[in-house]
Amino acid sequence: MSVLNLAGFLARSEVNGPGIRAVLWVQGCPRRCEGCFNPQFQPFSPATVTSVPTLAKTILSLEGIDGVTFSGGEPFAQAGPLAELGATLRNAGLSVITYSGYTAEDLAEGDDPAWPALLAATDLLIAGPFIASRARPDSLTGSANQQVIALGTRLSAGRQDTFGSRTEFTIAPDGSITATGFPEPSLVRQIRAQLRGT
Ligand code: SF4
Repeated sequence: MSVLNLAGFLARSEVNGPGIRAVLWVQGCPRRCEGCFNPQFQPFSPATVTSVPTLAKTILSLEGIDGVTFSGGEPFAQAGPLAELGATLRNAGLSVITYSGYTAEDLAEGDDPAWPALLAATDLLIAGPFIASRARPDSLTGSANQQVIALGTRLSAGRQDTFGSRTEFTIAPDGSITATGFPEPSLVRQIRAQLRGT
């Protein structure tokens, strides 16, 4: 059975693409971009290992979502199981957004046989490494070099730039806080310091 090693999961978000979306962050990324928003997601170490059918069932039970966003970490490092999950969710009518630290050209030329399957299960691809010197947080990208590419007809690459940079904080029942979107790093540091009482 296919499994995914997840760094995080959010059932509802309004800043990871259009509409209301579930978000999966995968654990493990080989890219090591300077200024990475999620450096704790870079190590290829076991985190929350979940089967693809279990995840599909969980996501399909969520009411009122428009789609799912695969982020990370590097989704293409777990392309096979994400492709399975994405295909199942798309068949059920949800749209799929996939982030990658690889460029679209890297992904087209790569020799991993699972990469074309994940591209085929993706409606909108956000591709390219984060480059701190070109940081330009907007609706979907963190730096100006990143490519926003529609791979199907469900989501348009053009209209995504209209809703601007937004940050979302979700407080779980256990008190843990998820910051997502593209928050200004100084804002995240300030909030973390205040939560620690420093
Ligand atoms: S590709 Fe994304 S997760 Fe990986 S190092 Fe770069 S910014 Fe971080």
